[in-house]
Amino acid sequence: MDIPCPQCGNPNLQVDEANSVVYCQKCGFAVKVDPKTGQVTPLSQGGGKAPGAAPPAVYRKKEIFGMDGLTFFMLGTAVALLLAFVANLDLTLLAGIEGVLFLLYWFNR
Ligand SMILES: [Zn+2]
Repeated sequence: MDIPCPQCGNPNLQVDEANSVVYCQKCGFAVKVDPKTGQVTPLSQGGGKAPGAAPPAVYRKKEIFGMDGLTFFMLGTAVALLLAFVANLDLTLLAGIEGVLFLLYWFNR
C-alpha cells in the first residue's frame, strides 16, 4: 500500500485481505475495497474531521499500568474494599485510596 492515509497522512496503511479492508491504525480511517469492481466503500472516516487534523483522544487510548483506565479503577476499588474487610482498614483511608484511584482514572481517561 503506497497511498498515505487521507485523514492523518500515515503512510503505513494496514490491509485486511480477508475482508478487503484498508485501514489506518493511527486514526481509525477504514475503507472496504471490492476486489472485483475496485469500488471503495468508506467504513470509518477516522478521527480527524479535516485532513491533517489530530485524531480525538478516544482513538489514543491511554492505559494505567498496562490496564484500561476503567479496569484499573474497578480493580483498585475491589482491592481497596478487600483491604478494608481483611485488614480492618480505616474508612477515611479507604476513602482516600478511592479518591486517588478516581483521580488517576479521571486524568488518564
Ligand atoms: Zn490515518
